[in-house]
Amino acid sequence: MTQYPHMLAPLDLGFVTLPNRVLMGSMHTNLEETGDWNRVAEFYAARARGGAALIVTGGMAPNREGAVFPGAAGLFTPQDIANHRIVTDRVHAAGGRIAMQILHAGRYAYGQDCVGPSAIKSPISPFPPRELDAEGIEKQITDIATAAARAGEAGYDGVEIMGSEGYFLNQFVVRHTNRRTDEWGGDYANRMRLPVEVVRRVRAAVGPDFIVIFRLSLIDLVPDGSTWDEVVTLARAIEAAGATMLNTGIGWHEARIPTIATSVPRAAFTWLTARLRPQVGIPVITSNRINMPDVAEQILADGKADMVSMARPFLADPDFVAKAATGRAAEIAPCIACNQACLDHTFGGKLTSCLVNPRACHETELVYAPAATPKRIAVVGAGPAGLSAALVAAERGHRVTLFEESDQIGGQLNLARRVPGKEEFDGLVDWFGTMLGRRGVDLRLNHMATPEDLAGFDDVILATGVRPRDPGIPSEPGAPILGYAEVLKGAKVGKKAVVIGAGGIGFDVAEFLVQDGISPSLDPTLWRREWGVGDPAAEAGGLAEDGPHPDPAARQVTLLQRKPEKPGRKLGKTTGWIHRANLQMKGVRMQGGADYRRITSTGIDVSIAGGNPVEIEADAVVICAGQEPRRELADLLEKAAISYHLIGGADVAAELDAKRAIDQGARLAAQL
Ligand code: NAP
Ligand code: SF4
Repeated sequence: MTQYPHMLAPLDLGFVTLPNRVLMGSMHTNLEETGDWNRVAEFYAARARGGAALIVTGGMAPNREGAVFPGAAGLFTPQDIANHRIVTDRVHAAGGRIAMQILHAGRYAYGQDCVGPSAIKSPISPFPPRELDAEGIEKQITDIATAAARAGEAGYDGVEIMGSEGYFLNQFVVRHTNRRTDEWGGDYANRMRLPVEVVRRVRAAVGPDFIVIFRLSLIDLVPDGSTWDEVVTLARAIEAAGATMLNTGIGWHEARIPTIATSVPRAAFTWLTARLRPQVGIPVITSNRINMPDVAEQILADGKADMVSMARPFLADPDFVAKAATGRAAEIAPCIACNQACLDHTFGGKLTSCLVNPRACHETELVYAPAATPKRIAVVGAGPAGLSAALVAAERGHRVTLFEESDQIGGQLNLARRVPGKEEFDGLVDWFGTMLGRRGVDLRLNHMATPEDLAGFDDVILATGVRPRDPGIPSEPGAPILGYAEVLKGAKVGKKAVVIGAGGIGFDVAEFLVQDGISPSLDPTLWRREWGVGDPAAEAGGLAEDGPHPDPAARQVTLLQRKPEKPGRKLGKTTGWIHRANLQMKGVRMQGGADYRRITSTGIDVSIAGGNPVEIEADAVVICAGQEPRRELADLLEKAAISYHLIGGADVAAELDAKRAIDQGARLAAQL
């Protein structure tokens, strides 16, 4: 008897039966744009082998003006169709099914020839769209229907029509972006005409036995968004127009409320899918912050959806479903919703990957092949870099001994997991622990490795990590100076704190210091109130009329850096704004251009932007001024003429982060 009977139950769509209730949601990976279709095919085939019932590809442009960026992939030529055939054939050979997402970006397109219902520029693009006339609208419909027909020719099992997240079809639906007065604008019947017509024409183009998913925006989270009645009206019309299933879309890209970041509670928006489900006769799919089989199972068991969409979790672990189905759920590498290697890469024009799984989108290039000659490998340091190296080496058949001086694995991850909103890091450390056991790594905790310990191994990998940098700010005796690790481990901090350094850790520490009581990430009601998420049945678009209501800050915090720019500029592309907004809501003063003069017993004397020194009162001054590599053991090995490989923060402390550490550990171990 499986632990996940609802998740693993088949879903009968009439003309086809899906083997389970897990959909791999659409993600733009930039893989198609590499032109290496073998690589694209292997990425998707791995997920098909891993048991996803239905895969949805990244968004494909139906035409040039609708492409997310110039040159974005689409099915324009016979060669494009032949390329996509490589993907669909490989997925089918792996026993999977795959639908192609058709994504018309409308005014979100990063190109000068972008189009929209009205000439209203989006806040996230420099290009104002050209307002389409009736003929132009007809062209878009034809192009989308043609793309669907070509998807059929390319062997896809279906299409997903992107109608949410503020893209083209969504733009017609709401007054926020549609100011037209013709038959495509004005009252709701006119505003919803385009998505309904698109579905009707797509269905006509592909015939009855082809999956057509419509991604519907259930909560826009922008001003003048759809009301709940409008959402239901559109859902029913989409069903009548021929859609097979409805997928959930949450929030426009320009919304200032996080929808998928790690601080968003798990399954935070499934209540909307649950509310829609009884209103329509076709299956509904839920999405957003669902990353583990127990969460998916509970949603389905509670009747909140017919299917669960997970996107990033399939980057973290292609075998998600297969592991859940064979009693190995604890082996599923967890997506921690950090966005660091996926969305931050996608939006930075780089190839997507995954912090937890560096093989994601690199399946053909980063291969963990069985070792020709098993070796004895020592790894020193059980932080992200060392853990990653140890696991990959052991997976390849090497005999691995992992030395860790403290009494637990995880290294800096153990600090991150204490920050409110970063609770998902718990799962990552647990997963590393599970996998060390399953792969037979000999873990030696409380063991400070010496050159004598390491002599005799075939390879020695040093992942000895970092130590916090002492910025050398003059201080009075008894000044209340604390390190970030002490604070995150629970050192007492009074009602006023100054944080020195506004990098990732400075922000983390500031968030830790302003939060008291339960983390909103663990309490969806609290989280919704904090960010001002309302009910679209009462407030159009689901923006709470009275705005965000964060709990008061636990203490007064000032966050300082020396650079004269706005603090937080180097934080993640897709998450930095969330950290800044959160601290702003909590009244944190964030200040660049600081010249630290002296830390006193009552605070810190500092001059801001060349002004006269002032005292900022504080009962704690917390140092988050970056890191330095720990290489004492490396020096000893040099003296003992023992060769070694240096990885993680011990290698490059300045750019230390878990993404680089895990990637570097895995790549090294793949070659030994
Ligand atoms: P960091 O990002 O390099 O930031 C160090 C901060 O200390 C900077 O604000 C820097 O700003 C300041 N600083 C540097 N030298 C100083 C000195 N001598 N005196 C005073 N201030 C000094 O390092 P981190 O915050 O320790 O983070 C380490 C790594 O972990 C980073 O790669 C970061 O991306 C990663 N991380 C990421 C996240 C995340 O959410 N993605 C969270 C935590 C950590 P000024 O030089 O302008 O003063
Ligand atoms: Fe999830 Fe982070 Fe991996 Fe993206 S990079 S898939 S968010 S763990």
